[in-house]
Amino acid sequence: MNLFDKLLTPYTIPQQIKGRFAPSPSGRMHLGNVYAALMSYISAKAKGGQWLLRIEDIDPQRSKQQWVDQILSDLDWLGLAWDEGPLFQSERGEIYEDYLRRLAERRLLYPCSCTRADLMATNAPHASDGAVAYSGRCRPSSDVEVADLAGNTLRLMVPPYPAGMDANLSGTIEFDDLICGRQRVELSSYSGDFVVRRRDGAWAYQFAVTLDDALMGVTEVVRGDDLLLSTAPQRYLAELLDIPMPDTYAHLPLLTNELGVRLSKRDGALSMEWMRQHMSPRDVVAKICHSVSVPTDSVLQWL
Ligand code: GLU
Repeated sequence: MNLFDKLLTPYTIPQQIKGRFAPSPSGRMHLGNVYAALMSYISAKAKGGQWLLRIEDIDPQRSKQQWVDQILSDLDWLGLAWDEGPLFQSERGEIYEDYLRRLAERRLLYPCSCTRADLMATNAPHASDGAVAYSGRCRPSSDVEVADLAGNTLRLMVPPYPAGMDANLSGTIEFDDLICGRQRVELSSYSGDFVVRRRDGAWAYQFAVTLDDALMGVTEVVRGDDLLLSTAPQRYLAELLDIPMPDTYAHLPLLTNELGVRLSKRDGALSMEWMRQHMSPRDVVAKICHSVSVPTDSVLQWL
């Protein structure tokens, strides 16, 4: 089965499919982003579903309007038209606040004052995707007052919880991925208590993405496999907040060249700027299909 066939694995869930593309506007798209956009689009469209565009501009230091405009223009050039959005995470702070309060009221959040040096010194070694499990250095042994949370980096507890907590979830998260198969992640060793809001007030990716996927009714997540294990904290949060979670995940393997080597800038022709000058949108689609051994026509028919 090629990757495209896996994405289209027969559907038994009688519901409207909603996929999404959620770029961070911290630079111009490159072939890897186009690949995630294309596959999430095709996967939703080929099942009669909708495709929404969400701009993940929660990091004020890295997000730029210039890149938002460029992403919209590049998607337009590629012929990938969204059915809903673009939604901007930067405009959704009040919603995030509301859910943060719910976690705080359950005493599941605590302020963390660790500096970068503390984190480097005490955290568990890096996981395969670069995630670092928090050591729990600031985890309180008794209740935290909600008032103490303002102006601090906030972490969310993952099991095992201290005694007397208003939560009883498992810290072992299991889910199926259409491409990568069944996954089992132990939160305490993958992330430990993870950050939901930074000291400067910026929302953490895991928190915002979980709320948005739930509130926008996203049913399937197709994205790069660097985010495969992030699915675990996201599903944990959704369960904790009792909000819907996507029912399908497909994490895409990295693009490779003919020799199976990961495509890098040295292979050229990867930047959107170069592609728009030298290739047609169809050529770009063909290049991606070739790289992942999917017949180009099977994809082009949905564009
Ligand atoms: N905003 C993330 C990125 O650009 C992707 C988030 C997601 O697909 O869950 O890498």
